[in-house]
Amino acid sequence: MARTDAIVLGAGIVGTSIALHLAKRGLSVALVDRAGVGEQTSYGNSGVIEGSTILPPAFPTSFAALLRVALKRASEANYHLSFLPQVAPWLLAFRAASVSGRLAETARLNRPLFARAVADHEALMEEAGATQYLRKTGWLKLYRSDTAFAALKPEFELAAEFGLPLQALDVAGAQALEPSLNPVFTRAVFWPKAASVSNPLAVTRAYAKRFSALGGVMLVGDARSLHKAGNRWRVETNEGGVDAPEVVVALGPWAPDLLEPLGLKLPMAVKRGYHRHFRAQGNAALQRPVVDVENGYLITPMEQGIRLTTGAEFAARDAAPTPVQFDRLMPKARALFPLGERADDKTWLGSRPCFPDSRPVIGRAPGLPGLWLAIGHAHWGLTLGPATGRLLAEMISGDQPFCDPAAYRAERFLP
Ligand SMILES: Cc1cc2nc3c(=O)[nH]c(=O)nc-3n(C[C@H](O)[C@H](O)[C@H](O)COP(=O)(O)OP(=O)(O)OC[C@H]3O[C@@H](n4cnc5c(N)ncnc54)[C@H](O)[C@@H]3O)c2cc1C
Repeated sequence: MARTDAIVLGAGIVGTSIALHLAKRGLSVALVDRAGVGEQTSYGNSGVIEGSTILPPAFPTSFAALLRVALKRASEANYHLSFLPQVAPWLLAFRAASVSGRLAETARLNRPLFARAVADHEALMEEAGATQYLRKTGWLKLYRSDTAFAALKPEFELAAEFGLPLQALDVAGAQALEPSLNPVFTRAVFWPKAASVSNPLAVTRAYAKRFSALGGVMLVGDARSLHKAGNRWRVETNEGGVDAPEVVVALGPWAPDLLEPLGLKLPMAVKRGYHRHFRAQGNAALQRPVVDVENGYLITPMEQGIRLTTGAEFAARDAAPTPVQFDRLMPKARALFPLGERADDKTWLGSRPCFPDSRPVIGRAPGLPGLWLAIGHAHWGLTLGPATGRLLAEMISGDQPFCDPAAYRAERFLP
């Protein structure tokens, strides 16, 4: 490449959105991945653009819920016993961030990103010719107990503060939206301003194609080859070494593989999650993602069939898959919706890259001039990819950022 202004490492939805936003500002950009665009975590998610997400997931407060997880009876969570000592400090920090005042604070700090989520995706989809994947049909959350529904009061108050519409529904109201749901729940909340996509991989690929059309270059290479070359950074690729003054790390759950050897250790853990595809029985159908909140799984219509995704599994990122949550949740899922045969025989495993305070890190890498971070998007990387791309491109280009990025600085984890 003749001149490269910026290298983006990682072509998931986050890195691809950043590369596209940088290219839109006229920068010469190389997007580097060791695999195909969007094929890792950004492939297998639930496809929800959670513009109306408010509170982050919290550490269980009730002893009963904790006990069910501990006894491996919970469908919403699983863990590898051998991994607990390693993840214990992260879990303690996560628990500390889960007290109600801090959850509300997190909601307010993350709000500027979430507020742009749907509009920024739609803008990129329009220029990338990908609007056919977008469904602006909201999402539906189901509650099986009145206790769980009653616990939503703080979330409803924040929704009013943020100006987010919602509809609290009874069973008939939910079935009016999704007639194929069986009445195994008692209450529901419809969030009309959320959106979803029918193929997350195709969306990331469309953004990459648009990036290429703007002159961006996609290269295959191992990000761990990154090193200083004079006052620039250099990464080795199949096309030879590429160097640039600015490098963005958007490696999702693999970010520590690059950052720790460079001396930057941040408290990232992964919440692993699985998906399987099913056919619907007869004429049964879904129009939108549906979450069975207390059982921690989601069903959503995708091009491949009904995708069922699981909640969190605390295990080492590279440990062998243990999809035991399906055994626990399938009877509940089948009672809720007439799932038929498997649409394919694959069980997909992905790793949500999470910081304990449920905020991403977006901004400069402390102590590493020219290096930028866009990592830790947890349950919302698809949602927040384009807004993150806009924010980081504004910061790198020296433009006025659309929101104060202070809340996303990596320095919050450093002494
Ligand atoms: C079950 C499940 C359901 C989810 N549902 C949703 C949802 O509904 N909505 C939502 O917003 N989010 C959802 N998420 C979260 C979302 O999928 C992630 O936050 C998001 O995909 C992270 O994107 P990313 O670009 O940071 O990471 P990735 O997509 O993992 O991209 C990182 C890239 O880095 C590359 N890479 C890694 N190491 C190297 C290396 N050494 N050299 C070169 N390249 C490298 C990888 O190949 C990969 O392409 C879900 C996640 C899971 C697991």
